Amino acid sequence: MKPMSEPDRDLLCALQTIWGFEHFRDHQQAIVEAVLADRDVLAVLPTGGGKSLTFQLPALLSRGTTLVVTPLVALMENQVRRLRDQHVAAAGLHSELPAAERRAVLEGIDEGRWSLLYLAPETLLAPGVWDRLTRIPISRIVLDEAHCLASWGSSFRPAYHRLGAARRALGHPPLCAFTATATPEVLEALVRLLGLVRPRRLVVHPYRPNLNLQVRWTWTARQRRVQISAFLEQHRADAGLVYLRTRRGTEQLAAFLTAGGWQTAFYHAGVRGEERRRLERDWLNGKLPFLVCTNAFGMGIDHPHVRWVLHANLPSALEEYMQEIGRAGRDGHPATALLLASEPTGLLDPSDRQLQTHLQREREAQRQKAREVLKHLPATGIFKPDEALSLALLHEQGRLIWETPFEYRRTDRQEVVLKTPDYSMSGYVWTRRCRWQFLLAAFGLPESDPCGHCDRCCNRHAV
Ligand SMILES: [Zn+2]
Repeated sequence: MKPMSEPDRDLLCALQTIWGFEHFRDHQQAIVEAVLADRDVLAVLPTGGGKSLTFQLPALLSRGTTLVVTPLVALMENQVRRLRDQHVAAAGLHSELPAAERRAVLEGIDEGRWSLLYLAPETLLAPGVWDRLTRIPISRIVLDEAHCLASWGSSFRPAYHRLGAARRALGHPPLCAFTATATPEVLEALVRLLGLVRPRRLVVHPYRPNLNLQVRWTWTARQRRVQISAFLEQHRADAGLVYLRTRRGTEQLAAFLTAGGWQTAFYHAGVRGEERRRLERDWLNGKLPFLVCTNAFGMGIDHPHVRWVLHANLPSALEEYMQEIGRAGRDGHPATALLLASEPTGLLDPSDRQLQTHLQREREAQRQKAREVLKHLPATGIFKPDEALSLALLHEQGRLIWETPFEYRRTDRQEVVLKTPDYSMSGYVWTRRCRWQFLLAAFGLPESDPCGHCDRCCNRHAV
């Protein structure tokens, strides 16, 4: 590999001609060089960190098709549109695509026409797509939002578990996994479950000195709404996002705020695709200053001037929280992330506690089902869609391996028990330390001095 200080001439030339940039940003060069050297890559990059260029540029300098696996239709459409504007042979395949376009994309695959092909993980493994992909040269597989592999996260996609086997079946092209946030435990699980081979690891430090972290207690549902309204008043002219855990929660709060004269709308995975695209556009161009959304909103959507993120209740995991607050202040100007937490006893305002219990029960039910499936699991078997979730959990636990993306083999191994993280959302709420220091420790990153501006730092100064 060439030294970091001297990017290859061809690289810089492509960077200038296609993207109009003179230089690489921060970590881009290191990733591009690892990708071009056909290494496996595991990169933790915040959204807006210039991730897409690091695989698009190598794709254009390589023979064959680069497969980009992403769960996000909005991201697919945006990137494909941009690439086509730059005259790059790119296409996207997903379930919302009209039939005629789908046929054109499939024909393009047969002809090996696409330098970059974006697909949802389920689409990649679907009949009529998979067989075509096995017949053309694949230069590499890029796995976006790789944390969707983790069953303990809220954006779990079981199909990700079969992608390591998919890579082998496609002639073992290099695999590059990207994620916006991941604890050290999640990174280790990604290496094991995807079968990454000595990956080049890159972690971009997520600390943002301009992002002001705040936590406040709420004692009743009514008080929570009063606090939300007061916060919105303070940020009237600014772009922001209100996050809630449940779909119903977003609908109710959006209705309450609209009745109070606010221009807003709810956004969750149950809203029709077309409507979601419209809301994303309206938010990006400022027609709607903020959206009331679940964690379905945000991945892959790049808005540098978000001034605030308000969590109206406790997110389910620190990874999710970190990703969501990371959407504020990407332009480097001051931004605020406020989290409203139910009062500590849970007696007056039990909503956070109820949600937590509900989620735990749901997970336990999934695990119970997986244990039942395991009891009757043959030594080898074929993938069945109605068992997708259980099979993914068993794969995560090391009880089976995928020999091909469609055939598994049972192992005799003991269950791999994933270490429960030492840090949790409630730990974050309760910590006496600087909130940034807590987050950095939770993600296994080198700690800095106290930030000096979060609510904990300010209280300390007051004492
Ligand atoms: Zn601090």
